[in-house]
Amino acid sequence: DARPWMGGHEERIFVSVRLRPLNGKEVARSDVSDWDCVGDDTIVFKNNSLSVPERSMYPTAYTFDRVFSTGCSTRQVYKEGAKEVALSVVGGINSSIFAYGQTSSGKTYTMTGITEYTIADIYDHIQKHPEREFFLKFSAMEIYNESVRDLLSTDSTPLRLLDDPERGTIVEKLTEETLRDWDHVIELLSICEAQRQNGETSLNEASSRSHQIIRLTVESSSRDFVGKDSSSTLVAAVNFVDLAGSERASQSLTAGTRLKEGCHINRSLLTLGTVIRKLSKGRNGHIPFRDSKLTRILQSSLGGNARTAIICTMSPARSHVEQSRNTLLFASCAK
Ligand code: ADP
Ligand code: MG
Repeated sequence: DARPWMGGHEERIFVSVRLRPLNGKEVARSDVSDWDCVGDDTIVFKNNSLSVPERSMYPTAYTFDRVFSTGCSTRQVYKEGAKEVALSVVGGINSSIFAYGQTSSGKTYTMTGITEYTIADIYDHIQKHPEREFFLKFSAMEIYNESVRDLLSTDSTPLRLLDDPERGTIVEKLTEETLRDWDHVIELLSICEAQRQNGETSLNEASSRSHQIIRLTVESSSRDFVGKDSSSTLVAAVNFVDLAGSERASQSLTAGTRLKEGCHINRSLLTLGTVIRKLSKGRNGHIPFRDSKLTRILQSSLGGNARTAIICTMSPARSHVEQSRNTLLFASCAK
């Protein structure tokens, strides 16, 4: 069903912001919430204790395609912020859904739910279209330090990217599982989760520095053998991208002990920012997809006819105000 808030804007990037509730740690240190959602598309900074000059330095209201307040469920975020873009895959259109935000703002929480809801809806679509035969393929990778790792394999050897004249950039030797059923989906998702935690002392450290891409490829063809020709076959991929913590982009600008790491994360995240800014201004001109691994891998699902949705997650806490403003700035550039 067509959604009025997306109608006629399918070529654009759909940008939403999700505000999570204050968490236990924030409450324990008497942190307070500085942000409120107004209506379903605006988020406002409500801290009146700032001096007038301080307040005038930053916008107090930001408007997007959609904002999700602390009371919104992930199902609602999925339905109104990702579903239409994600499900375009069954019609043969590539798409990407991104979660962007600082560490602990709710990226993984949001993206995990969206991934499951999308796959469940794809199975629902398959049931309703017995006239077509579907194949679903699942792959998952992590980009850490500009190095790509297969999340479905215990072999952590970095994977190479190859340029295929027909298929664009492909990840060499990436495991691709043909999905059997829903249980298989859950099994693969839990393997990814376990793999992502592997080899790192702290889960937070690992997930804050790496990008995770779960890719689902949907292929379908008509069961009507009489009229069957290659044009009745549709193939497309939907990518669920749980990005590295956005604080990495700014922190890494200051020289530190992890400079090398920072630079690389900076590269994928900053290149993505540049690519998204350019795409949001129209799809002509040079777009630097090739400047990072993340944008190379996602190129065919970002430019051209592909659809994109970005969910920016943020903490409402006063102590995170600077990062929250950076997130809103990124979101504003993308719309
Ligand atoms: P990130 O991936 O951005 O680092 P997480 O998704 O891991 O952040 O979220 C950090 C913590 O906050 C987790 O314990 C998660 O369950 C919780 N959380 C995140 N978003 C929400 C939300 N909207 N409602 C309730 N809890 C949330
Ligand atoms: Mg995470």
